[in-house]
Formats: sequence, structure tokens, C-alpha cells
Amino acid sequence: MRKPKELHRFYKSTQWQVVREIKIRAANGKCERCGALGKEVHHKIRLTVLNLTNPEISLNQENLELLCNKCHNEEHKRFSKQQQFDEDGNLISR
Ligand SMILES: [Zn+2]
Ligand SMILES: [Zn+2]
Repeated sequence: MRKPKELHRFYKSTQWQVVREIKIRAANGKCERCGALGKEVHHKIRLTVLNLTNPEISLNQENLELLCNKCHNEEHKRFSKQQQFDEDGNLISR
């Protein structure tokens, strides 16, 4: 699934890169669920084009979880039905 461009831009931002590095360091580079090598920082409250500009959600360490690729995929598969975006990048609620 293609990411809406607002989300894409967020993930490219310096602010996010910094917050992401802090999270990886805080978790000692390990997946918080299985202890494997953690590479992906996940938002517990999913980012949408609507909450993206709210730093309490998008940049809050409390809302982040360091995951390995496998756990991250599982997490998103589980919620994929709830995360559908229309062509303009708006979250379509169910
Ligand atoms: Zn894992
Ligand atoms: Zn995620």
C-alpha cells in the first residue's frame, strides 16, 4: 500500500530521524517484543494525515515502539483492515 505523501514527508523529516534515533538507543537496538535486532520504530497510535501534526502522537517517545521487521509486519497485518487510505491520502474509517 502506498503511503500518503504527508506521511512520506514526515518520515523523511530531520525531526523524525532524531526522535527515531533516541528511541532506538533507549531500547538498546532490540525489538521490544522478541528481542531480535530492532530496526523499525512503530507508532502505537497509528499515524494518520490528521494526527501527524500533533507531536504528542507523532514525536512522543511514549507512543513509539522499536520492533524488528517480523513483529512490525505482524502488527500492521493485524490492523491493516482499519488502515485504509483513499487516493488523497485520507484515512478511511470503517
Ligand atoms: Zn520482534
Ligand atoms: Zn508501525
